[in-house]
Amino acid sequence: MIASEKITYLDNNATTAIDPAVLEAMRPFLEKYFANPSSGYRFAAQVRDAIEQAREQVAALLGCEPGEIVFTSCGTESNNTAFHSALETRPECKHVVTTSVEHSAVRKPAQELERHGYEVTVIGVDKSGRLSLRALADAIRSDTALVSVMWANNETGVIFPIEEIAEIARDKGVPLHTDAVQVAGKISINLREIQLQFLSISGHKLHAPKGVGALYVNRRSRFHPLILGGSHENNRRAGTENAASIVGLGKAAEIALAKLPEEQTRVRNLRDRFEKGLIEKISNARVNGAGAPRLPNTSSVMFDEIESEAALMMLDQENICCSAGSACRTGSLQPSHVLSAMGLVNEQARGSLRFSFGRFNDEADIDRALEIVPGVIGKLQALSPAASR
Ligand SMILES: *Cc1c(COP(=O)(O)O)cnc(C)c1O
Repeated sequence: MIASEKITYLDNNATTAIDPAVLEAMRPFLEKYFANPSSGYRFAAQVRDAIEQAREQVAALLGCEPGEIVFTSCGTESNNTAFHSALETRPECKHVVTTSVEHSAVRKPAQELERHGYEVTVIGVDKSGRLSLRALADAIRSDTALVSVMWANNETGVIFPIEEIAEIARDKGVPLHTDAVQVAGKISINLREIQLQFLSISGHKLHAPKGVGALYVNRRSRFHPLILGGSHENNRRAGTENAASIVGLGKAAEIALAKLPEEQTRVRNLRDRFEKGLIEKISNARVNGAGAPRLPNTSSVMFDEIESEAALMMLDQENICCSAGSACRTGSLQPSHVLSAMGLVNEQARGSLRFSFGRFNDEADIDRALEIVPGVIGKLQALSPAASR
């Protein structure tokens, strides 16, 4: 095993380290308070109370009511649940609207629907990654069961104007789901000011453990559970609660909310310094999505004449962790669907790397990245066929 101190971890959109305070909050529920929260005795009530406290903490982060939070096993389950609920509640509607840059946890459910006779309209983006709201509005029909549009993109950090999108969907009377997995803890969310039906988050993207997530379900919308069984989560998600992880997600939400203003600025400064340094040191390095509003923590950078897979291997030798597109695509030679949707040709998409920063990054990480990355890119460019032309 490589000691984690030696690792420069710049892949916070793939997953994040558990915050020590989150681990501390979870520990009693792994060691001592093991009761099934559904049991009748007081020992179980303590676990139940902790879950309800976590629900309040997550609701505070999202600006909604605790009763609107359903705990799930991950962001992927939250997305699938939103789809399932929307389609089950409006069985006569056989049309769904989504975008060309969604995470696979929305793309795949949408593709599956096509095999089941649904029509899916996929809205494209421009070269900065921006969505045409006109195209979105035009795509929504009277038989549209769901509009699913991510809030911020995991590969580029590009932020969609969810407030305006919510207004469009509301005017058309169609439910809106947003995958906000990359947004929670990075920019502020206030669901009292945005009227939408479903919003997904995931624990491990905000310093809670893997294997826990949440789905916001607007209290005014009808709901149909995906996972059937006991009456857990107010009949919205069956299965004995993952109490320790739920407590962890609650704590992570509390910390994220408290630190949000200061962390936003700090991480943005790190990211900006990194991008500026790269652009200075590497000719023609370009930031994907630079023309659009972006999350403060994400840099997707395109380099001339490199293969991201080779760059990742060389960076790995230096213990720098980053990714080509999303973590889910590692090992595949397909160019990123997100970058392709932005009009990058295959070589450009395959010459892009994603660096994503977070709470546990500091100036020293940026120093190190700016010391190593330009050298790696320079070496690969010198080896490329274009260099000998
Ligand atoms: C990571 C991620 C997911 C999936 O969340 P899991 O908890 O890993 O299932 C979904 N959407 C986006 C945008 C993500 O970044």
